[in-house]
Amino acid sequence: MTDAEWRPISINYTAGGMSTIYGVTLHIMAGTLTGTDSWFRNPRAQASSHFGTGRQGALLQWVDTRDKAWAQAGGNPNWISIENEGNGGDTLTDTQLDRCAEVLAWAHKTHGVPLQIATSPSGRGLGHHAMGGQAWGGHLACPGSRVIAQKREIINRAKRLVVGTPSKVDDAPLSWPGRLLKYVKSQPMMSGRDVRVWQAALTTNGFATDVDGAFGPQTAERTRAFQRKNGLAIDGIVGPQTWAAGVRAARPKESKPAPEPEPEEDTIKIVLVDGVPQWPGRTLRVTSPMMRGADVRLWQEKLAKRGWNIGVDGIYGPRSLAVCRGYQRATGLKATGQVDRATWDMTWSWRPPAAEQSEPDPASAT
Ligand SMILES: [Zn+2]
Repeated sequence: MTDAEWRPISINYTAGGMSTIYGVTLHIMAGTLTGTDSWFRNPRAQASSHFGTGRQGALLQWVDTRDKAWAQAGGNPNWISIENEGNGGDTLTDTQLDRCAEVLAWAHKTHGVPLQIATSPSGRGLGHHAMGGQAWGGHLACPGSRVIAQKREIINRAKRLVVGTPSKVDDAPLSWPGRLLKYVKSQPMMSGRDVRVWQAALTTNGFATDVDGAFGPQTAERTRAFQRKNGLAIDGIVGPQTWAAGVRAARPKESKPAPEPEPEEDTIKIVLVDGVPQWPGRTLRVTSPMMRGADVRLWQEKLAKRGWNIGVDGIYGPRSLAVCRGYQRATGLKATGQVDRATWDMTWSWRPPAAEQSEPDPASAT
């Protein structure tokens, strides 16, 4: 975890005791963060948790996620635990929801935990203590119905975090990450920065793939298509050869640095009518090399202003594609990932519903 304050305990956990991670479970402390922090250091507690949130927004980590915290009895080997400051019947505060979302997003990227609600010990996703019943110690009031009702919101925030992670494709290592990237049906999806780099490379090579950092059926299918086209073994698995073929091709030529976007932008003229930019006459989409221009920049700027997590660089890359898809879904357009005339017009004509002055959920870009 990057942002948690590391507060390791020396007792009340099992070193190296974790098995396959199914998800993240929510708890309520029935007490304070400082009280819990000292209780976990007491031999009599026989209890611990991986993470803990404070009502003012603190995030502590007591146990490494390779080690088994003692939080929910029979569920301990498969679930990462979060204790939340508060009492039974409380709702989590806004900052606590953010902290829980951060842990969930991290578990998604690191352990392939799906961003969905889990309701039983055999499920996957965001669970809670009471769902384990007697097998999990019979804590049927933990974390309470109000917190359970907040699980959806935590998932939505986690999705936003996952989508908002910069892809860092530019400084990606050229070399194969050292693990076979693949999709196996009954197993949690592989996830991580290497998956994200690969998805971006696929997209740049003309096999548009959601750059969400999770290696699922779509990524496997696009990988096979890429392998077919490039005369590689068609197995949908990214080994050293497939990686090299895709990532090398996706990078700009070393000898010829990418041209500055400024000169090209001048060739695109945007006409304003009543302050509204008119359709530039070309469909913005991912190409190789990537499309650049004032129209791309303008469209990115508009979406960014509306709260979508998109860089305003005037280059239409995988990130623009992902946000475009999310925007199209949110506004009822066909999710092509291409800014055609209808999508362009919608970008400037769309107004939030009067009832709730909020944007469509950017998380739907996943
Ligand atoms: Zn609990």
